[in-house]
Amino acid sequence: MSVADILAAKGNEVISVAEPSTLHEVTTVLAKHKIGAVIVLEDNGDVCGIASERDIVRQIAANGPEALGDRIDSCMTRNVIFCEKRDSIDTILEKMTKGRFRHLPVMEDGSLVGFISIGDVVKLKIAQTERDAEELKRYIAG
Ligand code: AMP
Repeated sequence: MSVADILAAKGNEVISVAEPSTLHEVTTVLAKHKIGAVIVLEDNGDVCGIASERDIVRQIAANGPEALGDRIDSCMTRNVIFCEKRDSIDTILEKMTKGRFRHLPVMEDGSLVGFISIGDVVKLKIAQTERDAEELKRYIAG
């Protein structure tokens, strides 16, 4: 199982926001798409960061509700960790666990081709475990 299997099931959409977006604008994007993180893009379309709901919560906790007017680049993570479409599920689970984050943008041949969350990974793992259990039952039953 690889990241490609996750993208085959969920598609290639990558939700992004522009660097000057405010925290409030980003919260509306997260709420509209029912997601927990977005990619932040520079004017030229290059990725300059990733912003998760945790970054926004921390900024509001530190500076109060008026922080919703701050630019997202004041609290996003600039050092974005990516994965490759060919990476195995175990490789990305290790990356997420070590890095203590739940989201990974997906690259293929130097281009951004998807965005996955820990929820997508767990869903695929459960489906695989159920298939394995069914196979084992059939094998035992002869
Ligand atoms: P998360 O658990 O994904 O909501 O994010 C926890 C923290 O990790 C936040 O500060 C995010 O900005 C950061 N983060 C999330 N995903 C990544 C990633 N792929 N690369 C680097 N930082 C990330």
